[in-house]
Amino acid sequence: MVRAESVHKSYGDLQVLRGIDLDVRRGEVVCLLGPSGSGKSTFLRCINHLEQLNSGRIWVGDEVIGYRQQGNKLHELNERAIARQRRRIGMVFQRFNLFPHMTALENVVAAPVGVKRVPRAAARERAAELLARVGLKDKADSYPRQLSGGQQQRVAIARALAMEPDLMLFDEPTSALDPELVGEVLEVMKDLASSGLTMMVVTHEISFAREVADRVAFMDGGEILEVGPPSEVLVNPRHPRTQSFLARVL
Ligand code: ATP
Ligand code: MG
Repeated sequence: MVRAESVHKSYGDLQVLRGIDLDVRRGEVVCLLGPSGSGKSTFLRCINHLEQLNSGRIWVGDEVIGYRQQGNKLHELNERAIARQRRRIGMVFQRFNLFPHMTALENVVAAPVGVKRVPRAAARERAAELLARVGLKDKADSYPRQLSGGQQQRVAIARALAMEPDLMLFDEPTSALDPELVGEVLEVMKDLASSGLTMMVVTHEISFAREVADRVAFMDGGEILEVGPPSEVLVNPRHPRTQSFLARVL
């Protein structure tokens, strides 16, 4: 579903990604762990083409992100075509970024109607189902400011799901939340994982990674140093830097 091949990304002189290779199968949940500044967010942003690579390639499904393949040649896509690729990829950030002047339901309805041209009635029906799925059936008419952080983040997840993405990217979706609200968001993510959605999750929640991830990738210094099932990477890490990172966070 996702294939990253030798992904390099720099900001000026700063090399942030130094050759990332990673395959994520359909339906797989991969958690990305690593210290601050190791390039986790940058990598997710590259998958969504929010950042342009310096070299390497990323496929999502059978498409190269940012490019159209013709024979052996790659042609850069225009904004519109990139927007079309992005629709298949849902992203949930640390900050919820809901539209403040729209209710929860309207937030979920906006993109399917505005971007995919789904008829409004059908989009509202689907949005109501999605809000129920994230446990917010009775909050459809609430505005973001009337919701807790955990509720807002669950609306953000429903909003991303409304586009029916093939892949969901989560960048520390619970780090901005009060501790007592973290669990409800992780529960929703756990439910999505078991429904077969392909997910890449940057998180510091080691117990979530242990329980939900099919594989865990440990990043440091712009590289993936170690990747494997949680029972290996989290329990018997091979790389000394994974060991010292886990010793600090566990
Ligand atoms: P954290 O756990 O703190 O979120 P991260 O692993 O997500 O860290 P990134 O946000 O990917 O790390 O950042 C990797 C490096 O790239 C950092 O040194 C950061 O300062 C730098 N960086 C990120 N975005 C930019 C940018 N737009 N311009 C310049 N440097 C950037
Ligand atoms: Mg980050």
